[in-house]
Amino acid sequence: MTITNKINIYALDFKALETWCRPWGQSKARAREIWDYIYKHWVADFNKMDTLPPALLTRLDTEMEIYTPRVLARQEAPDGATRKDLLELQDGERIEVVMLRYRDRRSACISTQVGCACGCVFCATGQSGFVRQLTSGEIITQIVHLQRELAPYSEELSNIVIMGMGEPLLNVPETIAAVRRLLHPYGLAFAPRRITLSTVGIVPGILKLAQENLRINLAISLHAATDEVRNQLMPINKHYPLDDLFKAIREYTTHMGRHILLEWVMIDGVNDTEEQARALVTRLAGLPAHVNLIQLNPTEGYAGRPSPPQAVDAFTAILDQAGIPHTMRQRRGGTIEAGCGQLRRQSQDSEP
Ligand code: SAH
Ligand code: SF4
Repeated sequence: MTITNKINIYALDFKALETWCRPWGQSKARAREIWDYIYKHWVADFNKMDTLPPALLTRLDTEMEIYTPRVLARQEAPDGATRKDLLELQDGERIEVVMLRYRDRRSACISTQVGCACGCVFCATGQSGFVRQLTSGEIITQIVHLQRELAPYSEELSNIVIMGMGEPLLNVPETIAAVRRLLHPYGLAFAPRRITLSTVGIVPGILKLAQENLRINLAISLHAATDEVRNQLMPINKHYPLDDLFKAIREYTTHMGRHILLEWVMIDGVNDTEEQARALVTRLAGLPAHVNLIQLNPTEGYAGRPSPPQAVDAFTAILDQAGIPHTMRQRRGGTIEAGCGQLRRQSQDSEP
C-alpha cells in the first residue's frame, strides 16, 4: 500500500493541468508537453521530462506523482490471447483489468468500481458486493498500465470496453471524466467508436450520457425481455423496469442517431426460451439494435448453466425471422476466469 499526499498526474484533466502550469507561462503548451510525456511516451519519471524548465520540473516532482497501480498477480490463457491482471490501488483495494488480443487488434476491458452493488445473480462481481467507486485517475491508469506494456513491442490498444468490474453508470462523474481523457486529442486520443460502455440499464445515467454527447458505443445488459424474468436475474430491474429502460434507450438512439448494442447472456431454461425471443422481438420493433449473445460463464455463486446449442439455434432463428442482427460473442478468458462476469477482487491461484 502506498499512500502519499501527492496528486496523481493521471487524475487531472487537461484544464486542471493547464491551470496548474499557469505560473510558468504558455500554460496550454506546457500542459500539452506534459501530456505528451505521460500519454504518448509513457514516461514514468518527471526527471525524464527534460524539455521542461527546471523550476517547473522541481515543482512537479514535489506536488505530483506519476502513479500506476501495482500488478499483484497475472494470469494468461494458454493461447496467450487473454491476460488478466489483478491490480492493487493506493488504498490496498484490488481491481482486475483484462487485455484481449485478436489478430488485428488489442482490446482492454476496464473496471469502474471496486465490486458492484447491482447484484446480478450470474455475475461474480455482483456476488461479491460493492466496496467503493474508482476515481477517473484509477480508471485511466488501467489503460496507461496496458499501453506501457504494449509500447516496447510497438503495439497499442485499439479498443476499450468499459465492461470490467462495476456499473459505470452508478459512477457517472468519474467515468465520464475518464472517457473525456481517453478521447482528448492531447491525451489518449481514442476515436469514440473504439470505446464501448456497458450498463446494466441505469435510466438516468443513459439520459446523462446522451446529454454529454460523447458519441461512444453504448451496450445495455438486457438478458431478459419480460420484467418477470429480468427481476429474477437482475434486481436493478425493480428500480428501472423494462418499459422505462426502453423509453430511455429509444431517446438515446434518436438523440445520438446511433444503434444500440444489447447483451444477452444465454442461460439454460431461464432466458433462452422461444417465448423470451419473441418478447425481445416485440420490444425491439423499429429500434436500431444489435443483439450480442454471450455464453454464460460459470461463477461460484450461481447454479445456472449455459444454453445448449439447440436452444441457441431456436432463439436465433426467431431473431433472424424478425430481421434482428445478432452475433454470438466469442468466448474468451474462460480458463483464467477473465470472461464476462468472472472478475473478482481476489486472485484465485497466482497470488505472489
Ligand atoms: N455493469 C456493467 C458492466 C460490467 S458487466 C453491465 O452489467 O453491463 C459486463 C458484461 O458481462 C455484462 O453484459 C454482464 O451482464 C455480463 N456478465 C456478467 N456475468 C456474466 C457471466 N457469468 N457470464 C457471461 N456474461 C456475464
Ligand atoms: Fe454489476 Fe454488471 Fe455484474 Fe450486474 S453484471 S452485478 S451490473 S458488474
